Amino acid sequence: MQLHHIGNEGVRSSSGRTIPVIDPSDGQPFDELQRGSPEDIDRAVQAARKCYDSVWSRLSGAERGRLLMRLSFKVAEHADELAAIEQRDCGKPTKQARADALALVRYFEFYAGACDKLHGDTIPYQDGYSVLTWREPHGVTGHIIPWNYPMQIFGRSVGGALAAGNVCVVKPSEDACLSLIRVAQLAAECGFPAGAINIVTGFGHEVGEALARHQGIDHISFTGSPRVGTLIQQAAAERHCPVTLELGGKSPQIIFDDADLDAALPTVINAIVQNAGQTCSAGSRLLVQQSIYEPLLDRLGGAFANLRVGPARMDLDVGPLIRATQQQRVWDFLSDAQHASIPMVAQGQIVDEAPDTGYYQAPTLLRDVPITHRLAQEEVFGPVLAAMAFKDEDHAVQLANSTHFGLVAGIWTRDGGRQLRMAKRVKSGQVFINNYGAGGGVELPFGGVKSSGYGREKGFEALYGFTTLKTVAIRHG
Ligand code: NAD
Repeated sequence: MQLHHIGNEGVRSSSGRTIPVIDPSDGQPFDELQRGSPEDIDRAVQAARKCYDSVWSRLSGAERGRLLMRLSFKVAEHADELAAIEQRDCGKPTKQARADALALVRYFEFYAGACDKLHGDTIPYQDGYSVLTWREPHGVTGHIIPWNYPMQIFGRSVGGALAAGNVCVVKPSEDACLSLIRVAQLAAECGFPAGAINIVTGFGHEVGEALARHQGIDHISFTGSPRVGTLIQQAAAERHCPVTLELGGKSPQIIFDDADLDAALPTVINAIVQNAGQTCSAGSRLLVQQSIYEPLLDRLGGAFANLRVGPARMDLDVGPLIRATQQQRVWDFLSDAQHASIPMVAQGQIVDEAPDTGYYQAPTLLRDVPITHRLAQEEVFGPVLAAMAFKDEDHAVQLANSTHFGLVAGIWTRDGGRQLRMAKRVKSGQVFINNYGAGGGVELPFGGVKSSGYGREKGFEALYGFTTLKTVAIRHG
């Protein structure tokens, strides 16, 4: 049985209730989580506040950096264990689970090095004044995390917040939080003071909402769906609490006829099948220049047909989806495609070893998807790629920008001028040229425009969001 992690102790919920933990590969329960309550959130916020006031705010940047670096080493030592936990909890193939654990190592490493490098400025002002600015932490930050990349999103969000001098109360997803409880325990072993990292598990409408509304939370970092992002923003607005929103996407991969297709195709496929398409920055729309549309779809269709889907431990191209409702959601999209007579080019294969009780979905390539159809507009959050043709640059820009989202875009062309023109005209938080990074490394600031959210996490840029700026104007005596 899993417990909350509050003040460096395992704590049962005041509700006395639990939530079963399901293995997506076979749909069977294998553990239990605490079903947290608003009282549990209150307890965690109090523990965090006490830590901030009495210990954390008195540490120098270098001291915080040493703790984060120790945690980075500790997570590296436990990478296999954490990957195995994440694999069972989220249904991730081994390659992906391990990549997530190593990304967590890197987040802590990067932010360890950043702790003592965040500083303000001096500003020329009127004669007789010296003006300086200080970057100050918010204090107690709240972190609401989805189920698709628990370790990676914890690393970027909590890593950045701690580096900037905050202490954290984390509400992971009820569908995937085992790895994060373990990371918090490892942090305690590394010497993180009680209350610096707190984890309260439970349902969004119970503990997530209580966290967003809690008066003791000074900043909220939310990663999840646009629907819940709106609720968080509304709750935060009532008490003018700053928020960072990392929401969904319908990201385009745009291929011009001069592109290096041998390089593009594997990347295009990976961008939609990685993590079974359950990636905010999945490249879920494929925009192809008319002159190469047919041959490219032929090649891509052949590759899709060879993709294999099965239990996470088999480490195939694609694992299961997270839960039955997510599987149903993908089926609903595909059934809408059928009703709209959208042609299916190819589908991968679910292997015989996959239990009927697991949540499997074969990767699916659809073509000629009308830009107004929900398959071209809404996030499926499954391995479904919607292809469409474009005539020229203007048409590509028009299609790329025709959704409410703007998270990542991929542009494939050898023409240098076009690379920059397109990068400028496409509305998204990140643009990859001749690659598709799905967020890229820890160094690269990440976040969206439009309904993909606002604020940036990752990179040094995140530290500005996790701090507030104080201006100090000194009149010379
Ligand atoms: P979700 O919005 O359903 O849940 C996210 C988190 O919010 C969970 O911890 C959940 O328990 C909590 N929550 C749910 N209702 C709440 C409420 N009323 N108040 C407070 N908290 C609440 O999202 P999900 O299904 O877990 O994740 C998938 C979504 O996350 C997709 O839309 C995906 O694009 C997005 N996502 C975005 C990024 C990014 O960086 N932009 C990264 C990963 C996932």
